[in-house]
Amino acid sequence: MTIEQLRDRCAYWQQVLRLQDWDITVEIVRSRAIEDAVGKIHPLFSKKIARIKLQDRYDACQPDAIYQSDQEVDLVHELLHCHFIACEPEDWDDLKGETTHQAIHAISTALVKLDRGRFGPEVATEKSEPSVTEMLVAIRGNGTA
Ligand SMILES: [Zn+2]
Repeated sequence: MTIEQLRDRCAYWQQVLRLQDWDITVEIVRSRAIEDAVGKIHPLFSKKIARIKLQDRYDACQPDAIYQSDQEVDLVHELLHCHFIACEPEDWDDLKGETTHQAIHAISTALVKLDRGRFGPEVATEKSEPSVTEMLVAIRGNGTA
């Protein structure tokens, strides 16, 4: 994705995630600038300002890249962090941090898949992929919470 496409998707996902009142900027940077992560967010909750840095595709395509990430999933992942600021774990490397991160990643992946499934006919659906209903249940729970 180009930076313009990512900025368009950021505006779209801010609406979907009800973060329109945030002033969010997106940049593409080399992964060494973000500690070899695929993305980072620097949010300032009191002012509802956030700066998202996403890994350059060049780094994602290197043979030693840890995994081929999807920039839109990474974008939604970073945006979701804005919602979790109040309950962020003190240490992202402990069990609470790991499970919170897993939840954020599962939700961001599911949201992008749902979005593409509905509006992007170019995305093929495989038999092993969960159905839209299954993903909605995964996102919303079974309605008892
Ligand atoms: Zn994260």
